[in-house]
Amino acid sequence: MAKVAIYVRKSRANEGMAEKETLENQLNTVLHIAKKKKYDYEIFNEGVASSQNPERPQLNRMLKEIEKGKYNRILCTNTDRLWKDSDEAFLLYMKLGKYNVLIETEDGIFDPSDKMQKLMGYFKAHMDEEEYQKTRFRMAAGRISRVRSKKHMGNVPYGYRKDKNTDQLYIVEEEAELIRKAHELYQSGMSMYRLTQYFSDIGIRSGEGKAFRDSTIRNFLTNKAYIGIYTLHSTVLKETVTIRDSYPSILDVATFEKTQAKIVDNTTKDRRNHMPPKTPLDKLVYCGQCDGALQIHERKVTNKSGETSTYYSIGNCRRLVGEEKDKRCGNSSVSIKKILPLVYAELRKHRYGLQKALEKMESNDYKAELDKLEDKKKELQKKLQGLEDQKGVIMEMVKKQIIPISEYEQERKKIEKNVEETELEYDSVSLQIENFNIEDKKANIEYTMETIDCLQILPFKEQNDFLKSIIDRILLTNKDDEKEMEIIYY
Ligand SMILES: [Zn+2]
Repeated sequence: MAKVAIYVRKSRANEGMAEKETLENQLNTVLHIAKKKKYDYEIFNEGVASSQNPERPQLNRMLKEIEKGKYNRILCTNTDRLWKDSDEAFLLYMKLGKYNVLIETEDGIFDPSDKMQKLMGYFKAHMDEEEYQKTRFRMAAGRISRVRSKKHMGNVPYGYRKDKNTDQLYIVEEEAELIRKAHELYQSGMSMYRLTQYFSDIGIRSGEGKAFRDSTIRNFLTNKAYIGIYTLHSTVLKETVTIRDSYPSILDVATFEKTQAKIVDNTTKDRRNHMPPKTPLDKLVYCGQCDGALQIHERKVTNKSGETSTYYSIGNCRRLVGEEKDKRCGNSSVSIKKILPLVYAELRKHRYGLQKALEKMESNDYKAELDKLEDKKKELQKKLQGLEDQKGVIMEMVKKQIIPISEYEQERKKIEKNVEETELEYDSVSLQIENFNIEDKKANIEYTMETIDCLQILPFKEQNDFLKSIIDRILLTNKDDEKEMEIIYY
């Protein structure tokens, strides 16, 4: 059976602080653990440490007993009960490690003989809120300085891999070739949409084995990374850093600029061709069989009394399909008048879903989720601070000749890698929190619901603009006996 030393001390700094800090509460907490685990224990009660009496006789007595091998575990509420400052913490951990004494707290059991655990345990106690802000700035500055030294941060663009030793990017030739091909084809007149299809047709797949998406192709054509330019914007420091020759270039500048000019040209041409919509569904309807865009045509009919009226109809699908691309898809034409009521009915269903989403946002679950993210963010900030401090500790260890330089270098590299990974995780959590901006989201959903309510009385152009803002495409199947409509929302 383990013989356990219970140590309690009330520090002056904590006077008047949380209830938890009173000696009585500390004792209750640790005795509860000791009894639950049936420990054979002895209590070392230091009382209140004061500046008149900086010595801690009980601690020294306990350590003497430890040296005699009497205890193999110290039980306390928090590791910071055991020391006054970081130097003391360091020495204590070394000593406890030597005698194989574990430290048990409410948070868990620390093994001081395990180096990393020792360092982590050491720093648990050394953070305060002010440090968080400093850490944020330090992180942002660190990121910018890493970018300046041409070390890559964040996602590696398609066409490159990161050298794990230098953190710099190098070109993957097979991928680079596809990027160059995309520029060549786009400049020769192929649209981004066709390019996506082209790569899919010739069997090119992404790293996850999926066909490229439109956004991938757009990225191929517009990402300045391919001419070696990396841009980093820091909201914390309000600074944008642009580094040229940050990577080896996949494209020459002239080719890249030519593509950009072509993109501008194509988009203005598109605008020139832009006509006011004739129906609420303009540019929204796609073939449910082959996913091709369906045109809306104006038709005129003359009734028996000779009056001519105009109606609009979604044209049949004229796309070539099949292995040999030798037959028409043949999805049949249907009038807008028939489809529009179905779309309005679908939107009312969608509105109901939005209502539910809104209710969920007002529920406690949603807030709890945000709190969880905020906690995670704080935890990562603490971790980063801890890692920074760890660097200091291993430095100390070298100075005190506890570890050799070679081991220091190894540890330092490990810590730096950990810092980088943690920073990325931190960025991602921050982004998730930003996306959690409930008020904006709620306002947006409320606006969408209100617009759906009055949609049918709005002018066609407004209806069309609104539908295009919430709907990606309406898939229409009208072939043989199959009649189906599906709305894909953003
Ligand atoms: Zn079709």
